[in-house]
Amino acid sequence: MTADQRGPAEAVLKCADARVLLMGFIDGELSADEARQVEDHLAVCPACRGELASYQQLGRAADSLATEAPLVNTDLAWERIYDRITRGVGWLLLWVGVTLMAGFGLWAFGSEFLLDSEVPLVMRLGAGTFAVGSLLLLVNILRERLFRRKTERYDEVVR
Ligand SMILES: [Zn+2]
Repeated sequence: MTADQRGPAEAVLKCADARVLLMGFIDGELSADEARQVEDHLAVCPACRGELASYQQLGRAADSLATEAPLVNTDLAWERIYDRITRGVGWLLLWVGVTLMAGFGLWAFGSEFLLDSEVPLVMRLGAGTFAVGSLLLLVNILRERLFRRKTERYDEVVR
């Protein structure tokens, strides 16, 4: 005696036939008559109801994988990395430019001012330390930006 023959006597379909139709039933691809036959069989056959439930569960798992797919979209990830790199390079160039200009401006101003013996020594010292302090701050900000970019890139790899 096979499993099919042990199915409910009143069922129109045998289990084997019902299971062939089951995928189509889930996808709504059966004719109205076929669908009704499967429903009739499911109503009296717990084994095939279990089969239907596991198919549906598989379907849901596949669906949730499909909706999560954009999160691991490699094109998008590359676009984000490219975006971050270009922005980082932009900031880097901006700060290098600002530092060079400020450095040159302070040097041009300072050399004239500092070497002028008419200016009191305290003022010359003040201007000199101000210039050095400004340059140090600019370099410090530049380094901070570079360092932050490195750690951001590190974070990306860890995630
Ligand atoms: Zn069955």
